[in-house]
Amino acid sequence: MRHQVFTEEQQIFRESYRRFLHAEVKPHREQWRRDGLVPRDMFRLMGEQGYLLTWAPEALGGLGVEDFRYQQIMIEEDALHGEPGFFHTLHSRLVAPYLRHFGSTEQQQRFIPRCVSGECVLAIAMTEPDAGSDLAGMKTRAEDCGDHWLLNGSKVYISNGILADAVIVAAKTNPQQPREMTLFIVERGMDGFERGRNLDKLGLKAQDTAELFFNNVKIPKNNVLGDVGRGMQQLMQGLAEERLITACISLAAGEAAFALTRDFVMERQAFGGPLSALQNTRFKMAAMRTELDVAQAYIDRCVAQHNEGLLSAVSASQAKYYCSEVEGRAVDEGLQLHGGAGYMQEYEICNLYANARISRILAGTSEIMKEIVARDMFGGK
Ligand SMILES: Cc1cc2nc3c(=O)[nH]c(=O)nc-3n(C[C@H](O)[C@H](O)[C@H](O)COP(=O)(O)OP(=O)(O)OC[C@H]3O[C@@H](n4cnc5c(N)ncnc54)[C@H](O)[C@@H]3O)c2cc1C
Repeated sequence: MRHQVFTEEQQIFRESYRRFLHAEVKPHREQWRRDGLVPRDMFRLMGEQGYLLTWAPEALGGLGVEDFRYQQIMIEEDALHGEPGFFHTLHSRLVAPYLRHFGSTEQQQRFIPRCVSGECVLAIAMTEPDAGSDLAGMKTRAEDCGDHWLLNGSKVYISNGILADAVIVAAKTNPQQPREMTLFIVERGMDGFERGRNLDKLGLKAQDTAELFFNNVKIPKNNVLGDVGRGMQQLMQGLAEERLITACISLAAGEAAFALTRDFVMERQAFGGPLSALQNTRFKMAAMRTELDVAQAYIDRCVAQHNEGLLSAVSASQAKYYCSEVEGRAVDEGLQLHGGAGYMQEYEICNLYANARISRILAGTSEIMKEIVARDMFGGK
């Protein structure tokens, strides 16, 4: 069925990306998980192969391929053959688009070619110890000092936080208007910009998730991203794509859990036959297959809408909410069917289980997704 979704060219792209993962990623992922981060050179290698910011115009070093299907393919392949903690999709499709949509020509020329090549790794920093779902509680502030801004505050749980060379940081900029915020591009090496610990997480072990500190960081005026005071609106604009991406990642992880479990239950023997001969196993797998297929049809439609610029914030929230719940059920049932082996790190289902727990929290929690859907039905602030 899904061959109707992807063109022949896209299928070829999938095969070559999978070969790349088998050659350059899969053999190293255990080491990266032990190290707590993916080597910086991996971004450069991805860049050399043309896998980063595929949408970027040729004049800025990209391929000029807007079609989100290519990213969807990379996300799907990463789940089974790559390393889920390698957040190149966050770099390419979640952070870099802010430079495209709100960056000045000078900023685009300064950053995008280096992001395409993997020389400049990106992150986005909104969350703070006291402000996650409710960003209005943010304490990070920037003061206009004439020829520059002075940034003070801290951020937490920032993906790519250790590797990032440029971080888009949200800060409040108007003491009279507490909800007003502005986006700034903070660069590696700026005085007063420091990184804290690479945080020790339940899953996504190869992902460098860090605290960031800003102590009187002088931000040149030409590092303001977009309009002063419109940071919140700019962030909102990026959220539909961000939620679609996380939905695709969740669904791909659910598919990976299914594939690993199917192989395992066909192999593992108990009571004189394979686990796949037991009715409980068959029903669990049938239910999982059904949920994944139904979710996939919805996601494929969302991607088509996104390609046409028609994906609504509500549909993206439904996709993110539902797929992260499907993923949660798939990894849980999958681990159960693996028995004790499923609790061992050497079985990939164990990692998928640990990784999955964050999907219902990051990029907007399930509760916030439901709130967005409910607001669309009943109104509310
Ligand atoms: C691995 C990881 C990577 C991350 N990467 C990034 C990143 O790159 N950049 C970044 O800025 N942030 C990042 N985050 C932060 C993430 O987006 C936040 O953790 C998330 O938005 C939730 O915010 P919080 O942790 O402050 O929880 P809270 O907002 O304090 O929520 C706590 C609980 O209260 C519930 N709740 C809150 N408000 C409501 C409401 N109105 N109605 C009902 N329930 C509600 C939540 O659903 C949740 O269950 C990352 C987090 C993790 C763990």
